[in-house]
Amino acid sequence: MTNKPIIGITSAYVKHNHYMEGVYVHHDYHKAVIEAGGIPLILPIAPSDVLDEYINLCDGFILSGGEDIDPRFYNESPHPKLGFFYTERDESEIYLTKRIIEKKKPVIAICRGFQLVNVVLGGTLYQDIPSQLSEPIQHVQTINRSKSSHTIDIDKNSKLYALLNESTIFVNSLHHQGIKKLANGLKAVATSPDGLIEAVELKDDTSPLFLGIQWHPESMSQRDDVMKSLFLELVHASKN
Ligand code: MN
Repeated sequence: MTNKPIIGITSAYVKHNHYMEGVYVHHDYHKAVIEAGGIPLILPIAPSDVLDEYINLCDGFILSGGEDIDPRFYNESPHPKLGFFYTERDESEIYLTKRIIEKKKPVIAICRGFQLVNVVLGGTLYQDIPSQLSEPIQHVQTINRSKSSHTIDIDKNSKLYALLNESTIFVNSLHHQGIKKLANGLKAVATSPDGLIEAVELKDDTSPLFLGIQWHPESMSQRDDVMKSLFLELVHASKN
């Protein structure tokens, strides 16, 4: 037996071509987990009874990034600038997220995962930041995803601050959606200069780790120790 924790990572369904379709996860996620001492396990879209088994099997979770979320799950109709969405993934991850919260499993929700947590707990999203937020900064950066592009200010009364010990950091940014109405059960713990929420925690958090972040630390962690520390914390929290 190993004492390395198993970290379940949610995935997208992608049709690459006529011969190749199936599970997709950007390799930076499993690289970051391995680097931090965990065992990455890619989770396909699955029915609830199988997801219950993943809840038991995995010590911690990453809700990964990807396509937009079907706006029906926050009672809106599609905006003209809504991107591709895959309702089956949403249904699968909404169920998994509820169980993760219920069972107090350590989790980092990244980008789409961060937005999904807000939707699961009753919040809403900007379906397209450039056309719905007034005077937004650039949140879909044109430079490589491993590089940072905008700052965030971190609330000093947060676990994120306690973890990073930084009140302002540079992050990468690869999202055209974002949190509009914050869910009641969440508190915003970081914002970008245009006021957009970039990190959330549970208001009454008794779990070992619950962190939602809008940026992609997995793509920065190989060169950035602040980002790497997030994965070290996930692996650490998942050992207990
Ligand atoms: Mn951003």
